[in-house]
Amino acid sequence: MWYFSEEEKQIRDMCRDFAKNELAPVAEKHDTDESFNIEAFKKMGDIGVLGITADPEYGGAGMGALAATIVMEEFGKACASSTLSYLAHSILCVNNIQNNASKEQKQKYLPKLITGEHIGCMGMSEPEYGSDAVGIQTKADNKGDHYILNGSKMWITNAQYSDIAYVYTRTGNERKNLSTFILEKDQGHFTSGKPIHKMGMRASPTGELIFENAKVDKGQLVGNEGDSVYHMMKNLDIERITIAGISLGIAQACVDQCIKYAGERSQFGKPIGNFQMIQRMVAEMATETEMMRNFLYNTAYEYDQGKQGPVVAAQVKLAIPKMATKIALDAIQLHGGYGYSREFPVERMMRDNKLNEIGAGTNEVMVMIIAKNLLELNKQ
Ligand SMILES: Cc1cc2nc3c(=O)[nH]c(=O)nc-3n(C[C@H](O)[C@H](O)[C@H](O)COP(=O)(O)OP(=O)(O)OC[C@H]3O[C@@H](n4cnc5c(N)ncnc54)[C@H](O)[C@@H]3O)c2cc1C
Repeated sequence: MWYFSEEEKQIRDMCRDFAKNELAPVAEKHDTDESFNIEAFKKMGDIGVLGITADPEYGGAGMGALAATIVMEEFGKACASSTLSYLAHSILCVNNIQNNASKEQKQKYLPKLITGEHIGCMGMSEPEYGSDAVGIQTKADNKGDHYILNGSKMWITNAQYSDIAYVYTRTGNERKNLSTFILEKDQGHFTSGKPIHKMGMRASPTGELIFENAKVDKGQLVGNEGDSVYHMMKNLDIERITIAGISLGIAQACVDQCIKYAGERSQFGKPIGNFQMIQRMVAEMATETEMMRNFLYNTAYEYDQGKQGPVVAAQVKLAIPKMATKIALDAIQLHGGYGYSREFPVERMMRDNKLNEIGAGTNEVMVMIIAKNLLELNKQ
């Protein structure tokens, strides 16, 4: 059990209602059709969560990682893929603009992103550069008052629907020579490629961003030329904490579904919840979920207090999605053949959750971050 403040409880309850009414009833349909629930996405603007971490002067809620994680957990229980699109917009695009852009850029872009009039994405990964994000090759040539962009971004959540893209580019030959731009689709700064078909997170559109001799005014540059590595690292912590929130939601939804099914399904003349092996599965998955909840909200709380950084963010990102995959697989097992079918949501939850072991940095990259830090500490 984690203790929320009154304001946090209000956000939780509001998001729980929203998820129950707007996300859960159509989650299966959007997963099957591989379609984006854009109606629900726009309504997220109406309930004030699209700018959860943005300043109130731009229409944001002015809150932090803890509040954002509450939204992720509640939405994630109902439809993880809509939640991933929400994360790409609110944490990868809006939060990056909030923390790194100039006042003029914030005034120009944040209000429409926060109401949902505009949809946003963030472009870091490329076809040849994923884990090695600092190696990216999308080029921005400085022409004085403007830049010319060439290259492409891969795996970009919301790509096809985005009006605004927060994009990292290369502006020099050294690895660290990276620069960030806020790009507008309407200005011809980017186009999007074909949608990418996926095993899970199917209601979250994924695609390419393409830059072909795109002329981009200098005013679109975020901070100074060469600031990108700093921008990237700064946002990754909150991204990792909040994506773990989606996995927490998935795990809790699996626990809830298993408790229900263990009471409903009878074999050998009694509900399967009477069998000790089923009891063990339910008891373990519920216990693990509660551990995740405490670890995650404690981390988010301390992150908001400035007490936690990259290492603990990597630890929650490593531990929680991994545990949630195991829980989702056990949930399928507990449902028997029905669990393997589309009749119950647990197979969707397992497919959706697998992404959280890859996106925002793979499990292996999290291990690298944690181990590097620990071993360096040991040397001191
Ligand atoms: C559905 C989805 C949505 C996404 N959304 C976005 C988005 O909105 N914006 C964005 O910029 N990106 C996005 N991504 C990209 C995501 O961040 C990358 O897929 C991820 O960082 C891994 O990169 P990669 O796929 O190129 O894998 P690779 O880096 O090629 O890794 C392949 C394998 O090698 C391992 N590996 C790599 N380097 C090492 C190493 N040094 N030591 C040990 N093992 C290593 C990896 O862990 C992995 O197992 C998304 C991806 C998906 C699938």
